[in-house]
Amino acid sequence: MFDKILIANRGEIALRVVRACREMGIHSVAVHSTADADAMHVRMADEAICIGPPSSTNSYLNFPAIISACEITGAQAIHPGYGFLSENAAFVQVVEDHGLTFIGPTAEHIRIMGDKITAKDTMRALGVPCVPGSEGGVPTLQDAQRVGEEVGYPVIIKATAGGGGRGMKVAQTAADMEKAFLSARQEAKAAFGNDEVYIEKYLTTPRHIEIQVFGDGKGNAVHLGERDCSLQRRHQKVLEEAPGPAITPELRARIGKVCADAVAQINYIGAGTIEFLFENDEFYFIEMNTRLQVEHPVTEAIFGVDLVREQINVAAGLPMSFSQDDLTINGHSIEVRINAEKLPHFQPSPGTISQYHAPGGLGVRIDSALYQGYRIPPYYDSLIGKLIVHGRDRPEALARLSRALGELIIDGVDTTVPLFDALLAEEDIQTGNYNIHWLEHWLETHLG
Ligand code: ADP
Repeated sequence: MFDKILIANRGEIALRVVRACREMGIHSVAVHSTADADAMHVRMADEAICIGPPSSTNSYLNFPAIISACEITGAQAIHPGYGFLSENAAFVQVVEDHGLTFIGPTAEHIRIMGDKITAKDTMRALGVPCVPGSEGGVPTLQDAQRVGEEVGYPVIIKATAGGGGRGMKVAQTAADMEKAFLSARQEAKAAFGNDEVYIEKYLTTPRHIEIQVFGDGKGNAVHLGERDCSLQRRHQKVLEEAPGPAITPELRARIGKVCADAVAQINYIGAGTIEFLFENDEFYFIEMNTRLQVEHPVTEAIFGVDLVREQINVAAGLPMSFSQDDLTINGHSIEVRINAEKLPHFQPSPGTISQYHAPGGLGVRIDSALYQGYRIPPYYDSLIGKLIVHGRDRPEALARLSRALGELIIDGVDTTVPLFDALLAEEDIQTGNYNIHWLEHWLETHLG
């Protein structure tokens, strides 16, 4: 086992990893930009080291600074969290070249899944059902029009290098294709420096269902059920729950086995998430994330496992602590993402936290790096915390969420908390009757 792990991240996820390290008796090293000198992850880790100025490019994404921090502190392994370098194959290579361990999958698996076309080809070959669409990239407008006719409208044009919901455009009919194709390419070029796009059938009322998988890198893998992440704004998740309200034990067992078998076949190591759209009881693969997800706590809650501890264990060459038969679902869990954003338009709202009170009690977990007096810097993602509740069943989890939101106090900045208070009053949320478009429609009618 490692003596010391460096965490190449910030905010709540850095703190999450510090906590796992502490429980495992492993020393943790925080890295931070000058803007984060007062951050909670810096205070909570055993050691901290400054790796650069505020801009992420020069700090949290700075390979030489992070590798040097490992050398200076004697850290043997790097946990990347999510975002930043967590899915950067070149970084993994550099880490390994320096004799360090990357706590996550291999550079090769990250590369395969980071290119959405290769990911789809790989998954299809492993027996995973995919959304119908183009075979590979679509280089010209003529090709796009041909694929549109073949697949049938509506279609969605997506960036091969995509992520974070960017570079995606819908063409409802053939008449929309030119505009959608050109703007998807332009957005992809601007966001990812790669304008390659591909086309999929646009599913009109799907849910976003993702399967948590975990492998030991030696051909053993399990699944930890699904999370329903259909409540999205601009293709970004806002609330997640497990188990999914629309998923039966039979559907779970079927898709779970397909996913676990697929990652076992490629000797996948660590945590991964296979994302699907789910419509009319069918699953359609859209992408695989080769890292820990923001929403991993809902899975931890219902299975009673610590996914970060598990990641560290397998990275150190130890076996997984559970087999498929050990994994049984207990109750229901819901997570809401608390962003420092001003409603109704969700503009970032950085500033100083003048008052903070975290809810508590049975079945309530807060993963947040907030504290009273903390100054949220304007340079990074606006996620400032996650409230996760666990109950014996969905109604209990919903009641607990409402109760916990009532106890939460975050003053000094605007947050997305009022959104969740309003959502909980909706019958569709209470009954679990929503798809990936529900929230956008609701926002239009309620917040304008
Ligand atoms: P990203 O990597 O940018 O997050 P994804 O491929 O994971 O992109 O898709 C993000 C979201 O976009 C999905 O959860 C879904 O809401 C929507 N989406 C993606 N593909 C389709 C599709 N074929 N039909 C309908 N919606 C889609």
